[in-house]
Amino acid sequence: MLTSTSSAQSGAEPNPETFATLKAFRSAGRGFWSHVADDEWNDWKWQLKNRITRLDQLQRLMPTLTPEEYAGTKLANSKLAMAITPYFFNLIDPADENCPIRRQVIPRLEETKTAPWEMSDPCGEDSHSPVPGLVHRYPDRVLFLVTDRCAAYCRYCTRSRLVSNATGYDFHPQFDKQIAYIAEHPEIRDVLLSGGDPLLLSDEKLEDLLTRLRAIPHIEFLRIGTRIPVFLPQRITPELCEMLKQFHPLFISIHANHPRELTTEVRAALGRLADAGIPLGNQSVMLEHVNDDVEVMKAHVQKLLMCRVKPYYIYQCDLIAGSAHLRASVRKGIEIMQGLRGHTTGYAVPQFVIDAPGGGGKVPINPEYVLSMNADRVVLRNFEGKVFEYPEAPAGEPILDSEELDTVGLWKD
Ligand SMILES: *Cc1c(COP(=O)(O)O)cnc(C)c1O
Ligand code: SF4
Repeated sequence: MLTSTSSAQSGAEPNPETFATLKAFRSAGRGFWSHVADDEWNDWKWQLKNRITRLDQLQRLMPTLTPEEYAGTKLANSKLAMAITPYFFNLIDPADENCPIRRQVIPRLEETKTAPWEMSDPCGEDSHSPVPGLVHRYPDRVLFLVTDRCAAYCRYCTRSRLVSNATGYDFHPQFDKQIAYIAEHPEIRDVLLSGGDPLLLSDEKLEDLLTRLRAIPHIEFLRIGTRIPVFLPQRITPELCEMLKQFHPLFISIHANHPRELTTEVRAALGRLADAGIPLGNQSVMLEHVNDDVEVMKAHVQKLLMCRVKPYYIYQCDLIAGSAHLRASVRKGIEIMQGLRGHTTGYAVPQFVIDAPGGGGKVPINPEYVLSMNADRVVLRNFEGKVFEYPEAPAGEPILDSEELDTVGLWKD
């Protein structure tokens, strides 16, 4: 007999230790915030209000701040603001200078160093922007920038010119103009909400925006790019999920880089989204000393599957000004892809891409599996490095026509 389960979360329970990694780094309960009541801690507005945004707060919480971090944080607000939710801060290992969480959110002095090939708009988004806050780079889809705020700020953000307004970019989304452009362009069938983080909008504002987009007849597909499930899983309330499920097909792409980001809290938040019927993908940025390692990336993509998330893209880090200390090499990315394909579940293998500098769009980068190819044969290399031959089919010519198929008894009407 089949027993029904009340929630999809009650399927196979992974080893609780796999997801509860954060405990090891909390000195007492919630560490510095151990006095905070559960209902406050679990309230996303409390988390936002209590973000770490100043050097003195950071110093108090982390006496092990390095001189580079100290100097970087002091200068941070002139470039990209610093903000870290208490929840995410608790994932930092204060004893580890190269903690993969720490490197993503704590500014460093190196951010102020800009190489000549680095840019403030590395993907050429502004040159593909027909109206402010809309990027129309690909034929059938647009990137819709909703806000310039995020729950926390990633030090390598490709839109740091925009987010947090620290550089005086002065972004003011104009939903009316953005929506009017989409309505006037019937070739657009896919709208990707991003920013900044769209899930920072109130449920009401987001519902209003999604309703207006869904009302456009040629819009088939909606998606949201957000790091909130990782920075602020408390935001993924049952009410938000109820609201979002009215707009299917609606996909969500999250942004997680390291397995330690996938905590019990994050797993539960992703489970709520998946239970609302929202297909989930993940985008990682390959970062030096964070996830530029086959074993780390393999653990990460496997853990994502346990969170019901399909690894979608691994990005080569964009040439954003002041990000050299975080960029890993393209060669490393290819090595990672080689270490994943065939070595783990196909669903766990993302596509490695470079967003071509200056506005070329995403270019897939793959390890070489085709060793040679001519009219007669294709020589292949498999994931173990073994070589195989595939006899090429004559191009465009069916081997047997339907009469011949009849005679060999394969053709059945
Ligand atoms: C990444 C991106 C998209 C979406 O690309 P997909 O490959 O469909 O996920 C759309 N517009 C812009 C400008 C982008 O950078
Ligand atoms: S969440 Fe995304 S938009 Fe926000 S700072 Fe990080 S990379 Fe940039």
